Amino acid sequence: MRPSALNTSFTGGGPLAEQDLRAFLTKLERLGELKHYRRPVSARYEIARLIQQHDGGPALRFSRVQGHEFEVVANLCSSRARIALALGIKEGQFITRVTQALRRLGELRLTKRPPIHESTEENPNLKRLPILTHFERDGGPYITAGIVIAKDLQGRYNASFHRLMLLSRRRLAIRLVPRHLHQMYSEAERNDKPLEVAVALGLHPAVSMAAATSPPYGVNELRLAASLLGGRLEVAKCKTVDLVVPARAELVLEGHLLPHERVKEGPFCDILGLYDSVRLEPVLEVSCLTSRSNALYQALLPGGLEHQLLMGMPQEPKLFEALNRVVEVKGVHLTPGGCCWLHAVISIVKRSPGDGRRAIRAAFRAHPSLKHVVVVDEDVEIHNPREVEWAIATRLRADQGLICFTDSKGSSLDPTKRRGSWAKLGVDATKDLRAPQRFQRARIPAPKKGGGCT
Ligand code: MN
Repeated sequence: MRPSALNTSFTGGGPLAEQDLRAFLTKLERLGELKHYRRPVSARYEIARLIQQHDGGPALRFSRVQGHEFEVVANLCSSRARIALALGIKEGQFITRVTQALRRLGELRLTKRPPIHESTEENPNLKRLPILTHFERDGGPYITAGIVIAKDLQGRYNASFHRLMLLSRRRLAIRLVPRHLHQMYSEAERNDKPLEVAVALGLHPAVSMAAATSPPYGVNELRLAASLLGGRLEVAKCKTVDLVVPARAELVLEGHLLPHERVKEGPFCDILGLYDSVRLEPVLEVSCLTSRSNALYQALLPGGLEHQLLMGMPQEPKLFEALNRVVEVKGVHLTPGGCCWLHAVISIVKRSPGDGRRAIRAAFRAHPSLKHVVVVDEDVEIHNPREVEWAIATRLRADQGLICFTDSKGSSLDPTKRRGSWAKLGVDATKDLRAPQRFQRARIPAPKKGGGCT
């Protein structure tokens, strides 16, 4: 990777006792970024609606959920600023921080009397949990903020987000996209064995962010979390399965993915705010629920900004690295209007006429779900939509700067699929190198040292 101009001094990490959701909530409360609902609210639609009303806003805590003893927290990572706060970085340092953490994973430290074992219940009734029903056509109540921890026959760990639809007191349907956990499940199923899993809920945002990142198979995302938290993460041995989980999680469901059984899962409103179709997916049978005293149940609104940021932001370091091999890239932004998934704005230091096009092609290769990409020069602030539009207004010539791709691979969630493929558009809004002065942005000189305005 080329040396980059990004700032690399971090203040993240901190003492181990602060590696949990509670410490983060206390911090948010101090900053006036936590809104507390003390009136009774319903887990069926009402909480989802309140989260939606606060999209991009404060974190939320619901102390009285009708028919459930657990409190609900939500909207924790609903802005880039909040995520930066959680990771102890400035907003512009995200890509560098994650890249660095991936190169140097942290350690897991086994702890004897973990908070997560303050309460243990074998054969629990899942209906006691305030599992939210979010949208009108959803197939049922869904756990959406759980990270599923598992290991393969060689002992290699994986931690990743999976939505879980409540089926009955002890069973959940789990959506397995064809990635790492799917691979582990298939391996177990080929041997006619159930796959042991633990679902951890109520985590420090650094743990959630790590689980949302997709490093290569075999890289333990919990060790990435440890690195993001300053080098170490406390873990605890589960009670009924041979796995470790974050010791300071609020709730953990231990259980098995059953082999040779599929159930209907869905519909489910996903990241684009559209319903994903009904599929046949595996079943998770829960054997044990462990929790902290007065455990907080963490909710996450599908299609909300928090969901989009958690899913999209980890793609930015990946795109940055891929782009850096072909152009001098300055920044990558998966924009909220594109659900942090389908749209990117990329800034480059243009050195040769083909750099814009090279960046467009590299971006589509690195993140196949990407559908529209705009490339701008380094003087354009990519997190500001007005700036990006200014670049399109003043630097794009539509008969030269647009590249359209047909018969492309796209996101399975994007409903514009026709005959098995999608179409993509790249917009090269970089300046023409033959006449740079025509594209130069006018600047007002800064006042001279010692002098004021005249
Ligand atoms: Mn993985």
